[in-house]
Amino acid sequence: MNPFQQHLQAVLSERRQQHRYRSRPEIGAPQGPELVVDGRPYTAFCSNDYLGLANHPDMREAMADAAQHWGVGSGASHLVCGHSDEHHKLEQELAAFCGRERALVFSTGFMANLGAITALVGKGDAVIEDRLNHASLLDAGLQSGARLRRFQHNDLDSLQRQLSLSAQAVKSLVVVDGVFSMDGDLAPLPQQAALAAEHNAWLMVDDAHGFGCLGETGGGVLQHYGLGQNEVPVLMGTLGKAVGSFGAFVAGSEALIETLIQLSRSYIYTTALPPAVAAASRKSLQLICRESWRRTHLQALIARFRRGAQAAGLTLMDSPTAIQPILVGDDAKALALSQALREQGYWVSAIRPPTVPEGSARLRVTLSAAHSEAQVDGLLVALARGQSEVGD
Ligand code: PMP
Repeated sequence: MNPFQQHLQAVLSERRQQHRYRSRPEIGAPQGPELVVDGRPYTAFCSNDYLGLANHPDMREAMADAAQHWGVGSGASHLVCGHSDEHHKLEQELAAFCGRERALVFSTGFMANLGAITALVGKGDAVIEDRLNHASLLDAGLQSGARLRRFQHNDLDSLQRQLSLSAQAVKSLVVVDGVFSMDGDLAPLPQQAALAAEHNAWLMVDDAHGFGCLGETGGGVLQHYGLGQNEVPVLMGTLGKAVGSFGAFVAGSEALIETLIQLSRSYIYTTALPPAVAAASRKSLQLICRESWRRTHLQALIARFRRGAQAAGLTLMDSPTAIQPILVGDDAKALALSQALREQGYWVSAIRPPTVPEGSARLRVTLSAAHSEAQVDGLLVALARGQSEVGD
């Protein structure tokens, strides 16, 4: 056998043996609480569509109208001829929404993180990251050429130590998730911002999971804490989660955004996202402001789920957000619990290493403003039954 083929077979069979083989369910319905997989309906608690906007009629209409006007593809990268009026307006509206001088739209969140970090730091600099940061932030740190230092999750002493060890660096950039994607907890941003400032470092926050959900008007984790551009000079958010569309952005000062346009390779060398997608994001920003009941309802569901899960003896994590993981520990047991839920008509993903640390496999339950109280109660019953079948 060809050595490449042999290598691939070995990798795949090892994954299977470790219960870590990943597969992609084929979805047969639009995003929403009712999911169809292989022709069978499920109530789904696995989407990042936290506000239930991905299938909102106004969003569909905005995108369809824009596609009538702009066509489908953007045709080129932003710096060539792919940057439309629609992208420009979205950037202006995002900047206003976040209270920043400017914003820059990227085609995905992975690319925004990669582009921003590699443009801001390089050889001679330090990039200091939470151990549980999203893969795109850690990959960007490695790729930047700066010295990558990791601190213990949300641990201020550990961050302080890594900042002190970086004293010789020309520039230091501290990078954290605002809301951790697999745990749902918040970073202690006010304290982290103070530590960064003490060490003349900049702080970058990836608010993929807070933007639209947290804060009085959905301004995200920075609005939740009352922090601005001075404390957090680099804010990154995504448009594919609570916004219900696709893409991402970085917001900050005029100088920051101009620097990214000049230097971010994942901005410069890629096709701009379709203008109709930008139009859908613009509509979503209006809905996020106008339909504040979505945030209120989501918060009520989070409280309801936590009360019920605690009463059922399930192991929750310290999360105040729409991400409510049930900690299981063992990989095979997490898969079995996910399967037991499927048999009862609920779709919840099991998350295993290497996405989460060894021994901390979990079910990642995500709640949405599109869920009803009855659906959440139904999930709680199914979880309790599933847990008793699978065993503690
Ligand atoms: N940052 C975080 C914290 C994320 O969870 C994700 C996506 N799961 C991304 C960045 C990447 O965003 P996108 O899906 O738009 O590439």
